[in-house]
Amino acid sequence: MHYDTLIIGAGLSGLAAGVRLAHFNRRVCLLERHSSIGGLNSFYRLRGRNHDVGLHAVTNYNPTGSKSGPLPRILRQLRLSWSDFGLFPQTASRISFPDVSLRFSNDPGLLEAEIARAFPDQLDGFRRLVEFVESTPWGTAFDPQRTGRSLLAEYLSDPQLIEMLMYPVLFYGSASPHDVELTQFLIIFRSVYRDGFARPFEGVRRILAVLAKTLKHLGGELKVRAGVRAIEHTAGRATAVVLDDGTRLTADTILSSAGSVETARLLEPQPEPVAGPGPVAGELTFFESIAMLDQPPATLGIPETTLFYSGTPRYHYANPSEPCHVDSGVLCSPNNFAYDRPLEESTVRLTVMANNRFWMNQPDEATYVAQKALWRDRIFAASLKHVPDFRQHIVDTDTFTPRTIVKYTGHVNGCVYGSPRKSWDGTTPLSNLFLCGTDQGMLGIVGAMFSGISMANRHLLGGPA
Ligand SMILES: Cc1cc2nc3c(=O)[nH]c(=O)nc-3n(C[C@H](O)[C@H](O)[C@H](O)COP(=O)(O)OP(=O)(O)OC[C@H]3O[C@@H](n4cnc5c(N)ncnc54)[C@H](O)[C@@H]3O)c2cc1C
Repeated sequence: MHYDTLIIGAGLSGLAAGVRLAHFNRRVCLLERHSSIGGLNSFYRLRGRNHDVGLHAVTNYNPTGSKSGPLPRILRQLRLSWSDFGLFPQTASRISFPDVSLRFSNDPGLLEAEIARAFPDQLDGFRRLVEFVESTPWGTAFDPQRTGRSLLAEYLSDPQLIEMLMYPVLFYGSASPHDVELTQFLIIFRSVYRDGFARPFEGVRRILAVLAKTLKHLGGELKVRAGVRAIEHTAGRATAVVLDDGTRLTADTILSSAGSVETARLLEPQPEPVAGPGPVAGELTFFESIAMLDQPPATLGIPETTLFYSGTPRYHYANPSEPCHVDSGVLCSPNNFAYDRPLEESTVRLTVMANNRFWMNQPDEATYVAQKALWRDRIFAASLKHVPDFRQHIVDTDTFTPRTIVKYTGHVNGCVYGSPRKSWDGTTPLSNLFLCGTDQGMLGIVGAMFSGISMANRHLLGGPA
């Protein structure tokens, strides 16, 4: 079977790229190894309840009708309407450190007021920083000499404020420890503090269903349980993909959302190593426990949409030496959005950094299950420095580890934010094989869709990104 484009992976970037190409009558087929779509942001049902895999919030939210920003651009390019994603804005979020906390919401004025309250001498610098961020077009500030931290230090002098502002930015998208490259910083800073958070009432399944339905309606194909085992190539061009069951498919172009290292491993034959920087695997990953409660978190004293908590004045964003970094994490609740009706289930989810090797190398299933329960309980306990005790209200729990991420997405080391070396132009050593999604550089739900669309525009439709 021959296609114009084969897309490896039906996560958000692959799905968005597929829809974009199908709008231009390209013969396109998505190949997904798993039985369900969504990749890092999928959904499942467990013991009678619906769950998102990892959804804290859709970042980069813009209110209905906004003209600028990545979300309106995605909707225009996919020819979808604002109501298709059914987004409701967050209530408010908080960054909590031992002696100081800052609240923020989709109204940028709240964070400014909080900085004026807690760090009055930093307010001017913060305003100038915001001016700089807003005057830099999305994804354009390539400057290897500057990072997120160095930029903050240009405008702010209080190390505590720098630490606090860095925390959500790192947690929501940095593939490198402690800091983040400038382009990524600007994208994530804006998505968290200027645009803000939202969630579909139905969770991520709503967005995935819209994309899959639109793809099908336009004649695009989606094959699940269709893992790509190899990408055959000759004379610098990909010639075919071979599926796990041995099926061979050919295409003029291939777009891969599997990751840069993961895609390079599929090449058959494996190319001779060349001088210069090649793909590198990331190390950073997460452990997440969900607690289903017998009443809404807000009634238990947890009103925040997301709570970024640190037990120490300096936040340590790195692969921890212990199995999980219990002192710091993100607690969030799907209940705490401004819906037009209450959610049926009451849930909090706690996400912390995890040591990928520990979780990948458990000697047997029983030990793995026991370790999961042990660290879940430790994480719940550690969060109580920042929120009231919710534990006697737990009616069910579920936990995933880096091992789960590897199993369901194939990302090396269970790395959620992929390789620290991004491929911003999406090119690979093969002239007709391109990357989209996490390792192209755009992260998160909106970022991944944006990446799929812009790589399709640039490399497969012959237009600007
Ligand atoms: C715990 C967690 C919480 C998160 N929270 C949020 C959040 O609150 N808000 C937000 O905006 N973002 C969040 N993210 C990040 C967001 O989910 C990702 O950035 C985004 O979904 C990445 O999409 P992608 O298309 O680039 O990659 P992926 O989702 O990884 O998609 C790649 C797909 O390719 C498939 N694949 C890989 N190899 C092959 C192969 N050889 N053959 C066939 N198929 C293959 C995989 O199965 C996968 O489905 C979270 C992620 C996690 C894990």
